[in-house]
Amino acid sequence: MSVEPEGSNRLLRDVLAAPGNGTCADCGNPEPDWASLTLGVFVCQACSLLHRSIPDISRVKSVQDTWAAGEVEAMAAKGNDAARAKYEQKVPAFYYRPTHTDCKMLREQWIRAKYERNEFECIEKQEPYSAGYREGFLWKRGRDNGQFLSRKFILSEREGALKYFNKQDGRDPKAVMKIETLNATFQPAKIGNPCGLQITYLKDNSTRNIFVYHGDAKETVDWFNAIRAARFHYLQVAFPGAGDEELVPKLTRNFMKEGFMEKTGPKHTEGFKKRWFTMDDRRLMYFKDPLDAFACGEVFIGSQDNRYTVLPGLPPATQGQHWSHGITIGTPDRKFLFACETEAEQRDWISAFQRVIDRPMRPQEYAVEAHFKHKP
Ligand SMILES: [Zn+2]
Repeated sequence: MSVEPEGSNRLLRDVLAAPGNGTCADCGNPEPDWASLTLGVFVCQACSLLHRSIPDISRVKSVQDTWAAGEVEAMAAKGNDAARAKYEQKVPAFYYRPTHTDCKMLREQWIRAKYERNEFECIEKQEPYSAGYREGFLWKRGRDNGQFLSRKFILSEREGALKYFNKQDGRDPKAVMKIETLNATFQPAKIGNPCGLQITYLKDNSTRNIFVYHGDAKETVDWFNAIRAARFHYLQVAFPGAGDEELVPKLTRNFMKEGFMEKTGPKHTEGFKKRWFTMDDRRLMYFKDPLDAFACGEVFIGSQDNRYTVLPGLPPATQGQHWSHGITIGTPDRKFLFACETEAEQRDWISAFQRVIDRPMRPQEYAVEAHFKHKP
């Protein structure tokens, strides 16, 4: 019996309405409008483009196209929930699952890990990031000249640190980054490489940045997940009894906002200087250059209950700013004055500050605030 194409497309709409098929199988974006016929999953347009790069495994088709009855039946028999049960059955808790806002490389590697390498059907394939030890070479941006040089890195859960070496013999680490304070976030645009990874850590309570990449996308993502795995195991020991759902959000974090603003000094008479700002949870850092290793300064942003405020505009007598969209941050110690180039930037920064200020401080954040106060 053959069904007319219109009839098939009506049946396809019913399949799309089935549980699990309402969001993209790979990034969770709502209302997917593409399908992989071979894998039997519904995906968003952005993910369908990534599926096209693995045509041997995934053949895609728009849900707007004309569908044959047999194709619809095949999709009905599979679907997103069934694919998840097969291709994601052994995803480790620490493994990063990208969303539609993540960079293309991270989303593409997730798709390849699932369907091309079948990494989550067999845990032996997860060794590169789950073993608790990883060593290899990464291209690291030089602090002084900005050139990327090949450096040996060693991540060791046992030693509680990520280290890198300028010498090939692996002696005398140039930096020892404690897993306790380590963070990693993909920054392809800022670093100028699709695999660009920014690693931050604390030294003497100040933030340090390094910028790295690996020429191979899978290797870069394996390093990222190895850092997450090491952090996961560290946090499991530090917070015994805490569940995965509590620990996983703490493994790595993306910055709340970054961009240029102008700032003035503590007396508000020094003139405004353009700086690169990074808002990392409650730390507002500013740099001369977006790729600097050290911040020129860091400001702790506490909560409303502790007398932190954010307001649009600057005090009336303020002078010296080139940009006209001001922001005033109040802290218990002093006021910080910033100027943004556009109204949209001002609005985005205020909303980022407001989100942090509206959130009550956790006990350990009081200790962080105290460190800031003791700084000269
Ligand atoms: Zn998607």
